Amino acid sequence: MGQKGREIVKMNVDELIGMLNKALSDEWLAYYQYWIGAKVVKGPMKDAVIAELTLHATEELSHAELIATRIIQLGGTPVLSPAEWLKISGCGYDAPADHYVEEVLNQNIKGEQCAIRTYNNLLDITRVADPVSYNMILAILSQEVEHEEDLSALKEDLELMLLRRK
Ligand code: FE
Ligand code: FE
Ligand code: MG
Repeated sequence: MGQKGREIVKMNVDELIGMLNKALSDEWLAYYQYWIGAKVVKGPMKDAVIAELTLHATEELSHAELIATRIIQLGGTPVLSPAEWLKISGCGYDAPADHYVEEVLNQNIKGEQCAIRTYNNLLDITRVADPVSYNMILAILSQEVEHEEDLSALKEDLELMLLRRK
């Protein structure tokens, strides 16, 4: 832990670490939801959907990497056990039990919308208190916004295609 780096944070650092661990748990669950979704998804436009889900999985993992690194910088310990993820997660996990493309897309859109709310809230909290976390959160939020739009665009294409075939 960098002492000065922690000192300059103008909020309760343990509380901040708690919020970051919640987000870290969300990221791991999002990673797996995308990763397993890409394996089981079935239906029209499957290939395009698999490519996007697979890319998003790697991007969620990179968010987890950023957040864990920041938690350590702040003198905290990133969640050590997967058993903790569901317990402290804010956005939870939707198992893709229905493998149909549209259902998998809907579940992941819901997850992205929760992530956007979470990071937008964290931005408000850190804006003045912790510019270093703020900067990281802004970068993650920008990518979650991109994710929501990517999935919505795929869903729109799918709907258009099904409509044309009637
Ligand atoms: Fe993410
Ligand atoms: Fe995302
Ligand atoms: Mg994308």
